[in-house]
This record gives sequence, C-alpha cells and structure tokens, in this order.
Amino acid sequence: MHTCELISVGTELLLGDILNTNAQYLSREMASLGIGLLHQSTVGDNPGRLSSEIRSSLSRCDIIITTGGLGPTPDDITKETVCEALGFRLCRDSAILADIESHFTRRGKVMPAENAKQADIPEGAAVFKNSCGTAPGAALEKDGKCVIILPGPPREMKMMFNESVRPFLISKYSDGVIISRNVRTFGIGESDMAHRVSDLLKSVNPSVAPYAKDGEAFLRVTASAESRAKAEALLLPVIADIKSRLSDFIYGIDYESLQEAVVKLLSEKGLRAAFAESCTAGYISKRITEVPGSSSVFECGAVTYSNAMKTKMLNVSPKTLERFGSVSEQTAVEMARGVMEISGADIGVSVTGVAGPGDDGEFPEGLSFIGICGAQGSFAERFETGRKNAREYNRYVTASKALDMLRRFIIKNY
Ligand code: AMP
Ligand code: MG
Repeated sequence: MHTCELISVGTELLLGDILNTNAQYLSREMASLGIGLLHQSTVGDNPGRLSSEIRSSLSRCDIIITTGGLGPTPDDITKETVCEALGFRLCRDSAILADIESHFTRRGKVMPAENAKQADIPEGAAVFKNSCGTAPGAALEKDGKCVIILPGPPREMKMMFNESVRPFLISKYSDGVIISRNVRTFGIGESDMAHRVSDLLKSVNPSVAPYAKDGEAFLRVTASAESRAKAEALLLPVIADIKSRLSDFIYGIDYESLQEAVVKLLSEKGLRAAFAESCTAGYISKRITEVPGSSSVFECGAVTYSNAMKTKMLNVSPKTLERFGSVSEQTAVEMARGVMEISGADIGVSVTGVAGPGDDGEFPEGLSFIGICGAQGSFAERFETGRKNAREYNRYVTASKALDMLRRFIIKNY
C-alpha cells in the first residue's frame, strides 16, 4: 500500500482563524483511494519550517499532499519551498499566464502584477488546472516520491482534486480497482442534497462525497476492491439508495451535462424541440448543440431580444407585452407556443428575464420566466438564481433551469 502525509500550510490555521477543512476532505479521499494516510501536520507560512516538514515527511512516506500557500502574495511560499526541497526549477508558463489573465478579464478586471508568479510551474511536473481560481496545482515526482501541491481555498482544492488529482492518484498510486460513479443533480442545493444522504457520507467503502459546480450538486460514489466486479457490487446498493432519496433531482449518473440528459431523452422519445431565448440569447441552443447527435432533436433556436422581434418572429401578442411586460409569465408562455408553432417542433421552450448586472427597475437580477409548450398545453415558471453581479452565472444557470424543466416535462408527458 502506498503511504501519504498531509501538510496544511497557512499561519491562519495555526492561529485558529479558520478550521482545517481541507485536511478532513483529503483524509477521506485518501481512504477511499486505498492510500494509507499516516500523518498530518500544519505549518505556518514559513519557508524554513515548511522545508524541514517536507524533508521529514519524505523520509517516512511516498506521497505528500500540501494545501495552501499558492496565492500571489509574498507570504505564499509553498511552491517555491517544495521546488527547492526537491530540486525543481520554476519556469513561467505562457499558456497558464494567459488562463490567469482571462480569469480576471472575464470578471472585468485587470490581472494584478503579483498574480504572474502563479504561472511559474515546476519544470517537469504534472500541472493541475484550476477551473475556479488562479493558482494551478502540481505533482512533483522524484526518486519514487511524489509531492502534490494544491491551493488553499477549499472550493478550488476540491474541484482540482475531483477533476485532476484523483485520476492522477488512481492511475499511479492506487492499489486494486477503484470505480467512481458521479450522481448529478439539478434543483437541489449542495447542503440540502448532503443532508438527505448525511449517513451515507460517513461510509468508507464505497465513500460518498458531495461537491457543487455552476449551480449543480453532485455526489461522487467511490468503491475500491480487488476486482472490478467486486467494486461494482459494492456500488450497486448505495447508488440505488441515493436514487431513492434524491429521486427526480437526479438527471443522470456519469453524464457530462444536463444537455446530454435532455438530448438523450428527446431522441429516445423521438421528439424535436425548439427554443426562444431572450435573456440567455442562444445559450440553451449552444449547449444542446454541443451534444453529438443533437441535430436529430434540435429544430431551431430564436434569439428575440426586442419586443418587436418577439412579436414578429414568435407571434407574441403586443397586448401581452404591453399589459404584462416582456419579462412575465404570459410572455414566456407565448414565446414557447410561438416557437413551437412556427417551427413545427414537438416542444417549445422559452426564456425571458434579467441577466444583470443590476435589476431592471422591476425585477431583480437573475430573475426569469421559463416557458414550456407541448401538445399537452403550456405553462411558465418563475425562477431566480439568487446571485448578484453575476451575468455569466445567471445566464448559465437560467439555461440549466430551462433544460431541467424540459427534462421533467418529457419524463412526465411522453
Ligand atoms: P492560500 O492558498 O494559503 O492563500 O489560502 C487561501 C485561503 O484558503 C485561506 O485564507 C483560507 O481561507 C483558505 N484555506 C487555506 N487552507 C485551508 C485549509 N486547510 N482548510 C480550509 N481552508 C483553508
Ligand atoms: Mg496562505
């Protein structure tokens, strides 16, 4: 069995300012991977003490995981200290620098000069992308030992672990067979989801771990055993139990996305859908058509921002627009009906709302009405993302909600 030690880096941990939740998370993950976690330590932002901790850990185990100290400020010294201890050179990576810069430009900001050092990569190391922050992680391998450095913010650390570190450890350091299933949900928050399966979260094999991304909540169920069949047998009852508890919040297991679930359902039922999008402006159409095979289920997408075009392209009545406004349940229903009738699709889906930033005088940012129309009739739902100053997030999650409503509509009616 491979052995591992954790080093949590950060003076704030030693001062008791924050709880070391990273250590708890990583300890459970190591157990689920069948890697023996033998020792944990916490060190302040001090190169000398971190360096001596790394050396003593390396004398005892195969794998060290550090968290924290990858930030842009001078007190963030983990990467530099690990490189020095293992004899790796740091080298600026232009692609990663561009990623970090775009992290800021997407938020309408200019990258501070200090952040450039986060693009310095240990030469020859495996690099782990940070999909919700700026500091990449890395695995430095030398003389049969491996030091993995991860960012401190728990959200970034968990995301990186799920996306990159777990697969890395499984391929290189895990004994036996490990199988993971990813249960994907929409419409239930991460904490509500975790609450419903709280007893399962304590289980060790299979382990059940919650995480969240872009308005969706997931459970990763991981079993390890000496053979694939034995690992599958361990997973089966736990997955069945989760299915019964989360029921229709689950849109798929091991799916890539909500749109994949929707395309699969539409094609199974032989249905075609059409979309009329105001505030999401083609986002749903884009996501549906990302899925291979979507041409057999996607009829068309209409982006109708102005009231005039809602009337001209979708037959939304000017009276409806005048009386209830363009952001209203009535307009959403007429948009859905209009796009269905004009295209001849089986189902019409519409979105009208306020993407932000800022409210529109009447409705808060992130509010939308989402309409669905099929042969069975039509309806619209009011939806709020609950986030401010988050135009991109609001558009994405509103599109997700529309996809989820379509998914539920198909399951219920066809
Ligand atoms: P750092 O990467 O060291 O700059 O850490 C950034 C932030 O992540 C800290 O201010 C903490 O809020 C959080 N953080 C760092 N280490 C941990 C940890 N072990 N557990 C929980 N939160 C942490
Ligand atoms: Mg720190």
